[in-house]
Amino acid sequence: MIVVKDLVKKYGDKTAIDGISFSIKSGEIVGLLGLNGAGKSTTMNCLTGYIAPTSGSIIIDGNDLLKDPDKAKKVIGYLPEVFSFYPDMRVVEYLDFICDLKGYTKNKQARKEHIEEICRQVGIYELRGRMIRNLSKGYKQRVGFAQALIGHPKVLILDEPTVGLDPSQIIEIRQLIRDSGKESTVIVSSHILSEIQTICDRVIVIHDGHIAADGSPKHLEEALGNANEVNIRVRGAHADIDRVIRATGAVRRYSRLQPQEDGCEDYIIVGKDGVDVREKLFRGFAQAGIPLLQIYGKEASLENIFLRLTGKNEKAGDK
Ligand code: ATP
Repeated sequence: MIVVKDLVKKYGDKTAIDGISFSIKSGEIVGLLGLNGAGKSTTMNCLTGYIAPTSGSIIIDGNDLLKDPDKAKKVIGYLPEVFSFYPDMRVVEYLDFICDLKGYTKNKQARKEHIEEICRQVGIYELRGRMIRNLSKGYKQRVGFAQALIGHPKVLILDEPTVGLDPSQIIEIRQLIRDSGKESTVIVSSHILSEIQTICDRVIVIHDGHIAADGSPKHLEEALGNANEVNIRVRGAHADIDRVIRATGAVRRYSRLQPQEDGCEDYIIVGKDGVDVREKLFRGFAQAGIPLLQIYGKEASLENIFLRLTGKNEKAGDK
């Protein structure tokens, strides 16, 4: 559905995106994840034809965006990060105006039905006769979403769609995005990891204008997460436990945590590569006659992965 090749965008001396390439299949919900200034908006603005790239190519639904922009743009619905409305228009008037801009059917009845269907879909049906300026921020965002859905776009591009919304509005907009993914290919940008994790099938991490990673949230966790990291709780004295941990020969590093239970010690342990540290610890404590009360794997969060990919990993107080 979307093929981006060697995309470069320079603003004067500043290279905002530097040779980005990716393909997106029909029906995928893809998250563009990056810190502020990483290049997400620039990428999206290039994809929507809003700005011209310095070099590279973008094919959307088989049409070259740079050579045949009208055809390529026709299949796109776009919700920009900063959205300007005509505040003195009523919601339906505004959506009718967007139909004009997008060239969506001149048949009045079909247009009316389309607008009403979208208003129902985004939860503004009851408010469709209101002036936009009288709507709350959350409802304005839904109007923004509604205009992006006009004309049944095959591709939906949503730039930071939940910024500035309250938690319940965020949940509703996320649900809208997931629902939209049933009909359109969706690209959504965010700097919120959990948001991308809950909405998207695939994450493209952008850092400093480059792609730092590309895969499913699960795949990224497996590939980059620390699968060999466990937390344990052991009943006994630290000196004895310490001896057992070291004797396993399987531990790369470990840290003692704040004790949570009388007579017990808690640790976070990182095993050596290629060794199942859980098994070594289990056997070690059993042989020493020291009760190992708890052992559980520490799931790598996308947050940690992101910090690693972008070179901002912290070194926690290791022993
Ligand atoms: P944010 O989440 O803060 O919007 P972003 O990932 O969307 O960040 P971009 O807005 O694409 O990042 O910006 C990428 C880089 O290009 C930044 O360093 C930004 O300062 C720079 N930049 C963006 N637009 C312009 C412009 N019109 N002129 C000059 N530099 C720009």
